Amino acid sequence: MIDPETLSVTIVDGYVDEPAHFGVPPYISTYPRYAAGALVDAGVPREQITYHTIDRLRDEPDYWRDVDEADLMIYLGGMTVPGKYVGGTPAEPDEVRKLAWTANGTSLMGGPVKFGVGDENAGATETERQDLDFDFVAKGDVEAAVHDLVANGLEGFNNRMRDIDEVSRWAQEGAFIVEQHPNHPDHLIAELETSRGCAYRCSFCTEPLYGNPSFRPPPTVVGEVDALSDFGVKHFRIGRQADILAYGGDGEAPNPDALRQLYSGIREVAPDLETLHLDNMNPITIVNWPEQSREGIRIIAEHNTPGDTAAFGLESADPVVQEENNLNVSAEECFEAVKIVNEEAGWRPGEDPADAPTFGDDAPRRLPKLLPGINLLHGLKGEREETYERNREFLQRVYDEGYMLRRINIRQVMSFDGTDMSDTGAEIANEHKQLFKRYKKQVREEIDNPMLERVAPPGTVLPDVHLEYHQDGRTFGRQLGTYPLLVGIPGERELGRTVDVAVVDHGYRSVTGVPYPLDLNAASMDELTAIPGVGDSTAGDIVVNRPYESVTDADLGTEVDLEGFATTRVLEGAD
Ligand code: SF4
Repeated sequence: MIDPETLSVTIVDGYVDEPAHFGVPPYISTYPRYAAGALVDAGVPREQITYHTIDRLRDEPDYWRDVDEADLMIYLGGMTVPGKYVGGTPAEPDEVRKLAWTANGTSLMGGPVKFGVGDENAGATETERQDLDFDFVAKGDVEAAVHDLVANGLEGFNNRMRDIDEVSRWAQEGAFIVEQHPNHPDHLIAELETSRGCAYRCSFCTEPLYGNPSFRPPPTVVGEVDALSDFGVKHFRIGRQADILAYGGDGEAPNPDALRQLYSGIREVAPDLETLHLDNMNPITIVNWPEQSREGIRIIAEHNTPGDTAAFGLESADPVVQEENNLNVSAEECFEAVKIVNEEAGWRPGEDPADAPTFGDDAPRRLPKLLPGINLLHGLKGEREETYERNREFLQRVYDEGYMLRRINIRQVMSFDGTDMSDTGAEIANEHKQLFKRYKKQVREEIDNPMLERVAPPGTVLPDVHLEYHQDGRTFGRQLGTYPLLVGIPGERELGRTVDVAVVDHGYRSVTGVPYPLDLNAASMDELTAIPGVGDSTAGDIVVNRPYESVTDADLGTEVDLEGFATTRVLEGAD
């Protein structure tokens, strides 16, 4: 029998993206944290547990030694929704196989990879389960498998799910692993689980494979946040659940008391947190229980940080598609839910919540507290040309009636075994590829762009944008949070730093911004001309007449609102 105290373990994070769980950097999913906690609980000393992301193994090949030499190598990964990512590149099947071949010790694979592996993480694909040459594949919860495998001297385990007591313990005991993440501490956001499973059974979704919802009581989630914040985490997203409003209730109806305990508890143990966002909210909950939902949404908006998004899975506004795929919300119901979230949470810091939703010239220049996002999925059973028109009309109506959406997510279906879509597969999605492309472009141009201008008008300040990459002479970055806006800044600035940015212009899903406040005594021509209303000649005048003692000194003789963007700092050495 192998003594757990002597074991060395390496965890490799190939990243996950599930309908209600995200773990591509800057996010860290629950899997590596819980697996680490399960190891500690089974008797493995913390200092013998090593954690690497797949990107670190690519960038620093010496670390493959840890894969080779560990007594136990655990691979965590799996993408069950399609996506493209800026912060990291998920492990490819060939890389996962190489991990298994490299490992000299016992190898275990787990996470959503158990649902299947596609050739690529893209829409309109079919998947199948593969063992990719690992000794063991966890078909239940990987953290339970990790625990039992160690407890059984690496001989084997029974596939099982973990219970609430275990997850509560493991979540706290495994929090230390975040320190080994390459993004720790400043550019890391911890995904928090409040429940798994779903009361509904949409045809394409892997979440019902976890059964009906089971909730983690508030003290266990709060205890986990406490532990994570002791290890330096300042950014959190409550994203691992199908419906945040249903938290702590009977599975469907909201329980505002539980939400209050959760949110206020988190604020108490992590008073210095910088981000508190959520992910999924089911619009049908809002429509069926409007008063409790309004209360729950108010509680969230009172405790979260601005720019938060409640992603609504409308998936299709076409009743035929809704019927054939067992979708639970109609376009009319979803519209009502959009309206309610706007009314209760579409206010901006510095204004009276009763005024929500606000936009236009008088609104404070901050992002609203919480807005709905809309997920639309194409290639579902029954889809026809009219489906595309109905979806577009729904989005147009939201805009025309004066509400805001924080983002519109349009995807094509991936088909997984065990879901109702597995018979249809990617057939419809492939047939409609051209139609899909045309429609997506139309939505981006006609709806996303004006909507973004409504949500984040020129002058809106986005604090702490992390600068991530350079492209075409510009620097791109995002805030930490749920579905952050991509921000392009003129010029190539040092990466890895954060700057406050003021929005100056809008793309479809991204904005252009200038550092805020922009120093008139130091700003480049590119930065100055990015300010709305400042052309080349005005910017040239500003540069020629430097230095200024105050922004008003730079009298432009035009209508330009410089004060909303700029400041003046005395240049070093200037007299
Ligand atoms: S409501 Fe439908 S799409 Fe959302 S988690 Fe439940 S089954 Fe999945």
